[in-house]
Amino acid sequence: MRDFSTSHDALSINTATLRKQWPLDRIIDECARRDIRAISPWRDQVASVGIAHIERQLKDSGIKLSGYCRGGFFPAADAAGLRTALDDNRRAIDEARRLAAPCLVLVVGSLPGALEGTPAYLDLARARSEVRDGIAATLDYARDQAMPLAIEPLHPMQAADRACINTLEQALDVCDELDPTRSGALGVAVDLYHVWWDPKLEAQIARAGADRLLAYHVCDWLAPTRDLVNDRGMMGDGVIELKKCRRWIEDAGYTGYAEVEIFSDTWWQKPGEEVLDTCIARHMSVV
Ligand code: ZN
Repeated sequence: MRDFSTSHDALSINTATLRKQWPLDRIIDECARRDIRAISPWRDQVASVGIAHIERQLKDSGIKLSGYCRGGFFPAADAAGLRTALDDNRRAIDEARRLAAPCLVLVVGSLPGALEGTPAYLDLARARSEVRDGIAATLDYARDQAMPLAIEPLHPMQAADRACINTLEQALDVCDELDPTRSGALGVAVDLYHVWWDPKLEAQIARAGADRLLAYHVCDWLAPTRDLVNDRGMMGDGVIELKKCRRWIEDAGYTGYAEVEIFSDTWWQKPGEEVLDTCIARHMSVV
């Protein structure tokens, strides 16, 4: 297993971690100042500064992307909605390519409208089938553009509104069905916040192997957790066995970044400098 204690070369910052403190251009500056080599930005953060500016800033600073957030949300109430989702995913691929991302992360979606409180239907199997078809349709374009798609399984507490793919096993089943040759065009984003509890985690990470493991997201699971989305913990403050999980993923051949992704009403209230400095320290000590 790689030794993280002497440098933070393998650290990436998912920029949602600082979305309440700073706009993306400031986040990039602050990361560059600390020799952080990679980030994973969100589309809305890129759009609010302007993609041309961000593209230039990344080139000038030498900061790479560890992923681009995000595509997905494929299910819809009708055919027009399904087409709109596919169009939006193509635009996300174009942006990811322009910013030289190694993959586009997919939060696949679930019951359409559930996030807004009014699901258009209640058929979870239908949502899963629309997700499968949506990924299949997007995969052709992703291949053309050489932009790998990384399915991120989400914790089952988000099965109604954000993702009907909830385990690594489910995500890998879709990968094996749609990309049986392991072409590199389709894989998974392993976010420990979502999958740490899974009794099959070790086995499924091994099954994924290097060519399916496209991204690795870390934070911690606080006990107790007070909010389903925005109470992620800083690494070391919760119950996830971070080093054990990293050993599994590196034993499977993963050599990429450990991307810190913390949605937290607690950490969003702290000064951004303190958040970044803490991410570096915890990356070196507990990740
Ligand atoms: Zn994630």
